[in-house]
Amino acid sequence: MARMIRPLANLYEQLRRLPGVGSKTAMRLAYHIIDMPEGEVQQLAEALSSAKKSIHYCSQCYNLTDGEKCAICSDPSRDSFTICVVEQPQDIAAMERSHGYNGLYHVLHGVLSPLDGVGPDKLKIRELFQRLQRESISEIIIATNSDVEGEATATYLAQLLKPIGITVSRIAHGLPMGGDLEYADEVTLSKALENRRAM
Ligand SMILES: [Zn+2]
Repeated sequence: MARMIRPLANLYEQLRRLPGVGSKTAMRLAYHIIDMPEGEVQQLAEALSSAKKSIHYCSQCYNLTDGEKCAICSDPSRDSFTICVVEQPQDIAAMERSHGYNGLYHVLHGVLSPLDGVGPDKLKIRELFQRLQRESISEIIIATNSDVEGEATATYLAQLLKPIGITVSRIAHGLPMGGDLEYADEVTLSKALENRRAM
């Protein structure tokens, strides 16, 4: 195979780094981008760079936002006594689509994974306990995924939270075993929330 010209190879390599993009897809995208009108390529580049620049973590729940607090934390109609703990910001989007929850969230930005060197200090766990001192929270619903790390993280959190006298529950995983919250359909997620059990 003839060697790709340098700028094309460079574009291919950047695309190839994205999750879920294999070499064939990266190649197809690279050629597609080259074929796009100049203006559209500019818009794409601009969207990438401005999203990265303007989006940061909500100062309260660590969801993504372009303001100081995210839309959910800023909404006075939300039940501010309940926090649902999730792994990633995209899990909030999934929960919101289910329309089964009206409380607040807290994003851990990962799960405990000793083999990968992810201990409690790498997650937003200290920040969660700081919130509990500031806010009057009566229930915490743990909605980490149902894989080994998700379960271990839920158990770890429950052990720390229970002595404080907060009701801790875990969403019922009618979700497929090892299933990602992010990909659960609305009905399954809404049921999982309804059937949460005390930990
Ligand atoms: Zn927030």
